[in-house]
Amino acid sequence: MVIAVDGPSGVGKSTVSRLVAKNLGLAFLDTGATYRAATLAILEAGVDPSDGSEVLSELSSHSIDYDERGVLLDGRSVAFDVRSDAVTGAVSAVSAHPSVRAEVVDMQRRWVEYHDGRAVVEGRDIGTIVFPDAQVKIYLTASPMVRATRRASDSEAGGKSVDEIADALAQRDHADSTREASPLRPADDAVIIDTGAMTIEEVVARITSLAT
Ligand code: C5P
Repeated sequence: MVIAVDGPSGVGKSTVSRLVAKNLGLAFLDTGATYRAATLAILEAGVDPSDGSEVLSELSSHSIDYDERGVLLDGRSVAFDVRSDAVTGAVSAVSAHPSVRAEVVDMQRRWVEYHDGRAVVEGRDIGTIVFPDAQVKIYLTASPMVRATRRASDSEAGGKSVDEIADALAQRDHADSTREASPLRPADDAVIIDTGAMTIEEVVARITSLAT
């Protein structure tokens, strides 16, 4: 069984998906982390993130994987490094190249196959493009202010104000939902859950009940 969980930045996809996976004994894949690892490789190599062919050629000499420690770049755990401001600032440009997406999506599908097709997969295009036949498709939403307020209490926020975080989220939402390749949008058959007034436990319980 594949459970696809999509939605914009800061909506709580990872936290919720991880818990649903644990409840149901499924593997968990954070696809945002795979695009972030690709972006880290690009930045470390000094390649321009907006140059699609350079990005693709650089990525051909790297491997991206994912395990219980999080994302791996060439076998090295980079779960922490991929959360830097530099990576966050460049990831939308890297992930907008269709040729780059094709490679990363291929990796994601192989990863799920390796886990016997039993996984909760979270991202932006999982229900629409990566696993259009997923048994359960969820699209999480919450207002930009709710998302920014939640992010501000994360350790990653680094002392930024709610307004600064809201601006950065809005920019990334815009880039992710207006790009030509696999834009962020709910699948036609996705269940849309507005998490604004819900606790994490309530969202997890709702998705778990949809899957059982
Ligand atoms: O979820 P996270 O914020 O880590 O995702 C980082 C970025 O990776 C997103 O802003 C988006 O540009 C890209 N992404 C994507 N498709 C996915 C997951 C993430 O394009 N399935």
